[in-house]
Amino acid sequence: MKEVRTRFAPSPTGFMHLGGLRTALYNYLFAKKMGGKFILRIEDTDQERFVEGATEVIYDTLRGCGMNWDEGPDIGGDYGPYIQSERKSLYLPYAQQLVKSGHAYYCFCTREELDGRRAAAEAKGEVFKYDKHCLHLSPEEIQAKLDAGVPYVIRQNAPTEGESSYDDLVFGHMSFPNDTLDDMVLIKQDGMPTYNFANVIDDHLMGITHVMRGLEYLSSTPKYNLLYEAFGWEVPQYIHLPTVMRDATHKLSKRDGDAYYSDYVDKGYLTEALINYLALVGWNPGDDREFFTMDELIDVFDVHRLNKAPGIFDVDKLTWFNHHYICQMDFERYLELVTPWFDKVLAGKNIDYRRLAQLMQERTEVFNRVPDMVRFLAELPDYDVELYTHKKMKTNPDVARTALNLMKPVLEGVEDWNETTLHDTVMAAIADAGMKNGAVLWPLRIAISGQQNTPGGAIEIAWLLGKEETLRRVDDGLKRLENA
Ligand code: GLU
Repeated sequence: MKEVRTRFAPSPTGFMHLGGLRTALYNYLFAKKMGGKFILRIEDTDQERFVEGATEVIYDTLRGCGMNWDEGPDIGGDYGPYIQSERKSLYLPYAQQLVKSGHAYYCFCTREELDGRRAAAEAKGEVFKYDKHCLHLSPEEIQAKLDAGVPYVIRQNAPTEGESSYDDLVFGHMSFPNDTLDDMVLIKQDGMPTYNFANVIDDHLMGITHVMRGLEYLSSTPKYNLLYEAFGWEVPQYIHLPTVMRDATHKLSKRDGDAYYSDYVDKGYLTEALINYLALVGWNPGDDREFFTMDELIDVFDVHRLNKAPGIFDVDKLTWFNHHYICQMDFERYLELVTPWFDKVLAGKNIDYRRLAQLMQERTEVFNRVPDMVRFLAELPDYDVELYTHKKMKTNPDVARTALNLMKPVLEGVEDWNETTLHDTVMAAIADAGMKNGAVLWPLRIAISGQQNTPGGAIEIAWLLGKEETLRRVDDGLKRLENA
C-alpha cells in the first residue's frame, strides 16, 4: 500500500482556530496511525492578509500540542518549499498547460465589467456565475491583449452539462450538477494562484494521499477533481470535517473569546486537556473511554469513526478534562504552573506558595480561577456576619463571638507558628472549653478568610497568613460581631 501522506495547510492569520487545530490533530493522528507522514504547508498566497509573526503562531501551537510534522517550511523535506509564496513561479506553467488543453482560459474582464454583469444578473433574480465571455475570444485577440500587457486572470473552463461526483470518507457520495460550477479563477492578476488552484497543484506535487480539511471545501471539491482529471493525476481521498460549534446554532467566535487556541491557553487550560477533549469533538473511540494521551489517541484513531454532525465544543466539558489533568499532574509541575497565577494577587505578600499549591491543586479547575480563590490571603474581603451562621457546624454570630474570644488568647500564646503546634493548641483549647470543633473552627475560618470556601481550613490558613495577620483578622471579626 502507498504511504499515507496527510497535510495541514493553514493560512497564517496570526491565530489558531480550534476548528483548525482539530483538523491538524486528525491529520496528524491519521498519518501517525497509518505509519505515514504529516506535512505542514503554509498557504499564504493572499498577500493582502499578511500578518507578521503568524507562521510562528502555527509552529508554536502545533509543537506545543505535540504535533510534530515530518516535512514543513522550517525543517524541509523532499517536496519543498512548503510555503506557497515561495512556490509562486511554479503554478503559472500548470495553468498555461490547462489553457493549452482547453481546461482553462485567459480572462481579461475588468472588475467594473464583472460588477456590472453581476448587478444585471441579480436584478433579474439570477445567481451570477461568470458567463465564459473571454472563452470566446479568438486566439489572435488573446495574443494581442497579452502582447499589450492587458491584465488577465486564468479561469477554469468548467463543464456546463452532466454532473461531478466523488466519495467523501465522512459525508459519503457527493454529487453536484456541473451547471452549478462556476469558472473559478486559478491565477490572479498579480500572478499568484488562488487557493482553489494551489491546493490541487501542491497536494499533487507533495504526494498527498488523504486531504482532510474543513467542510467549507466540500462543494468546491468537484472543481478540484476536474483539475486533477485534466492533468491526468490521481485524485486524493477526501475527508471533510464538520464545523466545530459552541452549540447547535452558534459558531465559536473571536468576539466571545472562545474561538482560538490562545484564548484557552491564556485562561489557563492545559494543552493536554485541550487536545484530549478536542479529539472527542467530532470523533469517538467506539467505547466510553475518555482519557487519552497523544500516543494513545494515535493508537485508537480510526477515520471511520469521524462524525458527520457538527462537533459541539462544550467548555464545561473541557473544564472537567482540565481539572482531571491538573489533579493528575506532578506536584512540582503544578507549582510551577500555578505560581504566576498566585503572583497576580499575592506577589510580595510573603505567602508560602508551596503549601498553598498543595491546598489548591485538587481545587484548580482552570488556572484563571486561581487568583480569585486566593485573593483573600492578600486582603481580607469585606463580608457579612451572616457568614458565621452554619447549621451543621452549629454556629451563628453569637456562637462565633464566643469562639473568637476563646481563640484570641490561645493564638496569641502560640510561640512556634507551625501547623502542628497550631493544630494541637487549638484543638486542646476547644476540648478544654467543652465546645464542638466545628463551632470554633468554622467561625475562625470565616474571621481569617472572610469567605466560606477556602483552600484548606482554619489551621492551614492561619499558618499561611502568619501570626500577626491572623490575630489582626480575628480582632476584625470580633469587631464586626460586636456591631452585629
Ligand atoms: N488554507 C486553507 C485554510 O486555511 C486550507 C484548506 C485545506 O486544508 O485545503 O482554510
